[in-house]
Amino acid sequence: MNASRCGAMTRKGTPCKAPAMANGRCRMHGGKSTGPRTPEGLERSRKANFKHGFYSVELLEERKFIRQLLRNSRETLEQVEKNVEAGAVVSGFSERL
Ligand SMILES: [Zn+2]
Repeated sequence: MNASRCGAMTRKGTPCKAPAMANGRCRMHGGKSTGPRTPEGLERSRKANFKHGFYSVELLEERKFIRQLLRNSRETLEQVEKNVEAGAVVSGFSERL
């Protein structure tokens, strides 16, 4: 017994011991499946397990953008503070410090 095994969970709750096919599952557990083929099928497959999209490309880009924005404003603030320390005139601003 050296052929790799399917390993899918059976209805008994034990791992399937049938020999695996090329995609790692046996003939009863999707070994014959070639996966979604049509564009609709691919889309359905993508949506089937979508939870909240926290790691979706859109949200990753958005968080990246916000981090950059924060970094920029922090740098700007530091620059302003340095200018104030150096005695640069910031009209109507330095008096309140
Ligand atoms: Zn199996």
